[in-house]
Amino acid sequence: MKAAVYEGPCNVKVKEVPDAKIERATDALVRITTTNICGSDLHMYEGRTDFERGRVLGHESLGQVIEIGKTVDRIKVGDIVCLPFNISCGHCANCDTGLTAYCLTLNPKPGMAGAAYGFAGMGPYNGGQAEYLRVPYADFNCLRLPREAEEQQNDYVMLSDIFPTGWHATELAGLLPGESIVIYGAGPVGLMAAYSAMIKGAAKVMVVDSHPDRLRLAESIGAIPIDFAKDDPVDKVLELTKGKGADRGCECVGYQCHDSQGNEHPNLTMNNLVRSVKFTGGIGVVGVFLPEDPGAPDDLGKQGEVVFDMGLFWAKGQRIGTGQCNVKAYNRRLRNLIEAGRAKPSFIVSHQLPLSQAPEAYLHFDRRDDGWTKVVLKPTG
Ligand code: NAD
Ligand code: ZN
Repeated sequence: MKAAVYEGPCNVKVKEVPDAKIERATDALVRITTTNICGSDLHMYEGRTDFERGRVLGHESLGQVIEIGKTVDRIKVGDIVCLPFNISCGHCANCDTGLTAYCLTLNPKPGMAGAAYGFAGMGPYNGGQAEYLRVPYADFNCLRLPREAEEQQNDYVMLSDIFPTGWHATELAGLLPGESIVIYGAGPVGLMAAYSAMIKGAAKVMVVDSHPDRLRLAESIGAIPIDFAKDDPVDKVLELTKGKGADRGCECVGYQCHDSQGNEHPNLTMNNLVRSVKFTGGIGVVGVFLPEDPGAPDDLGKQGEVVFDMGLFWAKGQRIGTGQCNVKAYNRRLRNLIEAGRAKPSFIVSHQLPLSQAPEAYLHFDRRDDGWTKVVLKPTG
């Protein structure tokens, strides 16, 4: 089968790899029809992780079930399914309580919880930027989609990761209807957090980034864009909230956050959030921070540590929630929103390309080139 393979820093090739196949009785085999490139893939693409050369990338996938293992019961051949980026067993102590991003059985690395397709440090599973994908524990992991999903794949595929992840950011922040929220990052995740906040009835949604194309998309859904290359985002948020600060804040950038000159400061967005969220406000952090980052610009960063403004955070009595999104906690209900016509997350899609063009798509999306907000790849051409 053809797949997008990591060949080394900034080098992705589409090549022939061994076919994905059923390996256990609980697996399904899915023919992938839509699969996205995610901001998380870029940490691997840039060589900032220990992702192995030769592995297939991709964790945002949708397709049709073409084969099932002997004990798969609920999922049938022919079903159109969306796969959460987390792979989870469904029966460990964490899965049992809905914390499927922290599955205790599927990551073979000692001391680690959580597994994912084509992801550094999250188990040996190949990714979905390929013609076929092996889905472990298919009954638990496949989200069945309505038939109409075939014509609306670019909406439904967002259920694999970024729509639930954006929603999760607002949940971690504790957003309630009628509150204000500031979102750092207008990449796909930040835009989905802003969109989720709108759906949840936030009174004011402010989105910080420096890319005009991404800020325009934020504005198109009713958010207030803040360009950190032009204005100090903290001053701007305080001005927009009568000096009080936003009720809630979301971090949708991660450890590679940078200043307007492009220099990385891994503590920048976290400290800006503490300063721009009100006393006793909540902060949700879904942007990725790594326990080790050998490619970091300073020694502290190499150990995955940041200089965090603990004093002000404590003095303000704020709360922080962090981590990977438990996609299964939200994906059914967000699917229902799409089906009912109440959500259309494909508004962020800028490019729909055949899988064969994955190398150039990675290049442009990684540079955050103007107009490259979200790429969906079609392995079927
Ligand atoms: P992205 O890299 O395309 O978007 C990040 C955006 O942040 C960019 O538009 C960039 O211009 C902006 N940015 C950089 N520095 C900034 C600053 N100082 N202030 C404000 N904005 C700044 O990626 P994405 O796909 O939107 O993903 C965002 C983050 O979320 C990544 O770290 C990704 O790995 C992570 N992620 C986490 C989960 C999860 O489950 N927790 C799931 C998906 C993605
Ligand atoms: Zn993703």
